[in-house]
Amino acid sequence: MSNIVAIVGRPNVGKSTLYNRLTETRKAIVDDYSGVTRDRHYGVAEWTDKHFTVIDTGGYVAHSDDVFEAAIREQVVIAIEEATVILFMVDVVTGITDLDDDIAKLLRRSQKPVFVVVNKVDNNQRLTDASIFYSLGLGEIYPLSSMSGSGTGELLDEVIKHFEPEDEDENQLPKYAIVGRPNVGKSSLINALIGRERNIVTPIAGTTRDSIHIHYNQFGHEFMLIDTAGLRKKTKVKENIEFYSVMRTIKALEEADVVILMIDAVEGIESQDINIFHLAEKNKKGIVILVNKWDLIEKNTKTTSVFEEQIYQKIAPFTDVPIVFTSVVEKQRIYKSLEAASKVYENKLKKIPTSKLNDVMLPIIENFPPPAVKGKYVKIKYVTQINASSPMFAFFCNLPQYVKEPYKRFVENKIRENFDFTGVPIQIFFRQK
Ligand code: GDP
Ligand code: GDP
Repeated sequence: MSNIVAIVGRPNVGKSTLYNRLTETRKAIVDDYSGVTRDRHYGVAEWTDKHFTVIDTGGYVAHSDDVFEAAIREQVVIAIEEATVILFMVDVVTGITDLDDDIAKLLRRSQKPVFVVVNKVDNNQRLTDASIFYSLGLGEIYPLSSMSGSGTGELLDEVIKHFEPEDEDENQLPKYAIVGRPNVGKSSLINALIGRERNIVTPIAGTTRDSIHIHYNQFGHEFMLIDTAGLRKKTKVKENIEFYSVMRTIKALEEADVVILMIDAVEGIESQDINIFHLAEKNKKGIVILVNKWDLIEKNTKTTSVFEEQIYQKIAPFTDVPIVFTSVVEKQRIYKSLEAASKVYENKLKKIPTSKLNDVMLPIIENFPPPAVKGKYVKIKYVTQINASSPMFAFFCNLPQYVKEPYKRFVENKIRENFDFTGVPIQIFFRQK
């Protein structure tokens, strides 16, 4: 199941404002003039219990004038191929521009659901003005104000109707996605695993294809590999290589049970790697980090621990993640990576019996109860692991609203100390008993 909502449109219409609202990361910089470098362009959103990834294409636009229109057009084409739903954002204040017309022409030819989102409809006058956008020939329009949030609910109610059903695919093989920045060694790893050069597929423009799945069954390991490396689309605009690779990565990641995140030992962990890590974490995926090209590093006795420490600092607070130092070219620790992935997969499915959980956790809680709030004491009665596709624990107590984040982290750490959940995000809930 992978649901990607791509926001396309020309600069300054309000794409990143909507993105921030949907993902509730108000951290990204929104500025009055276009050309601002932004840091995060994709994130997880939720509407009526449905999770999806939102991608703000604006973050990938080249800012030199001669290429940006071409870049935007190409992004629309990529979004048509890769996204589940496309939000075409226009601006009621400026009306329809030539570039809007160009984009609309591309979108009219697509098979994917397209929503015309008319932004900056902050008042009733502008609501009347919005009707001009029917002339884009893309059907219904969705007037809203990204700034205030009005109208976004109506839009999302319609958007989620186009999502793929959440299939609880049981009895299926574990799915591992190998992800990482270009050149980190993904193709080399896959080739090493399957023992041959797999075909490098270059999809023909305009054709859609799903990520490639490779069935692996050797040396006691059986799983599906989701390959993002094999697909290399030729893009006319250099900046869109990143956009395309991010799209493929998000798709593979959402499909996977365990994400094998490859990092280049020479370059170290970079912001893109951290973004992918957090996306995997938010999607409750199992995670293994491979530090590849380890052969290129001069080593002494401390090198691995220094590397590990640097990575843990950057990915904190979720640091209970296996790190394997590999050299794909020298075939070092490739099977150890598989062992790590399969252990993480096991951990993701692990269910701790309620009696055992309480035997361990209740004495700990008794020794370190949640701090009292306004003279009121939180009494935790029992804890149970909820039946879900990734570990979730519910602590039943009298006053769940008084339990704050630090205490949740404390119980999570205690669970991790006592039961092996390495590589897997854990969710903790406090509920009324
Ligand atoms: P992007 O380039 O498409 O990502 O556009 P931004 O999100 O950076 O927004 C461009 C400008 O439009 C910023 O100054 C925003 O504050 C403003 N803006 C965004 N949404 C709204 C809205 O709903 N109403 C109004 N009045 N301004 C908005
Ligand atoms: P991808 O873009 O992530 O699929 O990366 P590739 O598998 O195409 O590898 C990019 C380059 O890095 C190629 O020249 C590989 O031979 C090289 N490479 C891959 N793994 C290693 C490694 O462990 N050590 C060294 N020294 N080079 C590697």
